[in-house]
Amino acid sequence: MKRAELSKSKKKSTGFQHSKKLGQNFLTDHGVVEDIAIGSLADEDTLVIEIGPGQGVLTDELMNYAGALIAVELDDRLIPYLRTRFALNDRVEIVHGDILEIDLEELVRSGKEKFNVSKVQVVGNLPYYITTPIIMKLLESGISFENITIMMQKEVADRLIAEPGTKNTGAITYGVQYRCTVDKICDADRNCFDPAPKVDSAVLRLNFRKEPPVTPVSEKFFFQCIKAGFMMRRKTLLNSLAALNSLDASYHFGKDKIQQALKECGIDSKRRAESLTMEEFSELSDAIWRQR
Ligand code: SAM
Repeated sequence: MKRAELSKSKKKSTGFQHSKKLGQNFLTDHGVVEDIAIGSLADEDTLVIEIGPGQGVLTDELMNYAGALIAVELDDRLIPYLRTRFALNDRVEIVHGDILEIDLEELVRSGKEKFNVSKVQVVGNLPYYITTPIIMKLLESGISFENITIMMQKEVADRLIAEPGTKNTGAITYGVQYRCTVDKICDADRNCFDPAPKVDSAVLRLNFRKEPPVTPVSEKFFFQCIKAGFMMRRKTLLNSLAALNSLDASYHFGKDKIQQALKECGIDSKRRAESLTMEEFSELSDAIWRQR
């Protein structure tokens, strides 16, 4: 029997009313839970920030490896249950809050001090609709996470793991791979959850790089070029990059300037954003920057 079929046959109702709004698809497949905990590489010197612990199935497994764990859960109905479940473990702290609103820097600083650990990482089986904002918040936080291990919709995982310059990419591919290398931990089909979501999932580990793979003159402008390039991904670069002017009132990049920059980089103006490698995007953003 396949792993997902096995877990489906073992599913039993807990009486809990799952909130669709909060993306409450709880993991029931213990193999996947184990894969995430092991794949996160958490060890005794690691504080794990767990996003959305639900009923604590992953929390429990993570504590076989991690030195300490702070779980942030938004649903107030789950807080008493979680606090009771982990009452005997003084290395687990349950925080009631919204991960998108919380002061992460303070959470990490106080957690590291309280639990006397040197490393911190993030693990979560997130509601799918907050995957991108969470990843962006974590990447832009400036906090030195070891890694981020998260479950996401399979199509999003495919996009994050795609090689820049190939078809399946989006602006987020470049954003993530500029800061991290990406490893796939496992797939999790819909039957690994209760209730089963409408889509299949995968777990990725984003490992923070010590140095970015390219060094554009202006990091901010590099990301603006990527954003503009993908705003209308079917358009050619010559047309899509005109969207740069909508990202900052001080920009006035006419087609002539974009054309000149493309020429300097030896990039055909009919190419589309998705065909550019990270290096090409970096060179092109520098060349457009010089046209200011
Ligand atoms: N980790 C559990 C598991 O694997 O069974 C639950 C995963 S469930 C997909 C997502 C969890 O995130 C839910 O418990 C939900 O209430 C919580 N959640 C949703 N939005 C959140 C937010 N903005 N901040 C913190 N937790 C959130």
